[in-house]
Amino acid sequence: MPGTEKRQIEPIRLFKSDFLEFFSHVRPVTVLVLWVPVALFFLVRSIWFASENTAAARIVIGLLAGWFLWTFVEYVLHRFLFHFHPKTERLKRVFFSVHGVHHAQPLCRTRLVMPPVMSIPLAIAFFGLFHLVFDVLIGRPADTSTCSTTAPAPTCASG
Ligand SMILES: [Zn+2]
Repeated sequence: MPGTEKRQIEPIRLFKSDFLEFFSHVRPVTVLVLWVPVALFFLVRSIWFASENTAAARIVIGLLAGWFLWTFVEYVLHRFLFHFHPKTERLKRVFFSVHGVHHAQPLCRTRLVMPPVMSIPLAIAFFGLFHLVFDVLIGRPADTSTCSTTAPAPTCASG
């Protein structure tokens, strides 16, 4: 059938080493196979460890907030980091390898998504960052040892 044949593209070679070149390619289904179980693990974990006071609405709100936050962070990374214009040739090669190749060959199916060799360390780094911000800094309960419960309203001494 005319027009339905898939275009085969010879991918731009990024590395001289076949070993490194292998890790620069990934099929899009890898994202589903790798990250859907991780997302489901954290969803089930949040349900499993939810206290009796945690309403299902909080979990849904957290899921939606995480989805929105990650979409925003991914946009910011893409806009400002991946499309950064370095001055040196060496950095230009690095940025081309990380993301520029995706725009140079937008129809190359093995360069549509970030390979696990990059996405797994980034996921761990962002997990740590989000855990630090939302669980440790924002989510940590206040130190109530310096609080006064006397009227008219409870107050806590700072410091
Ligand atoms: Zn881009």
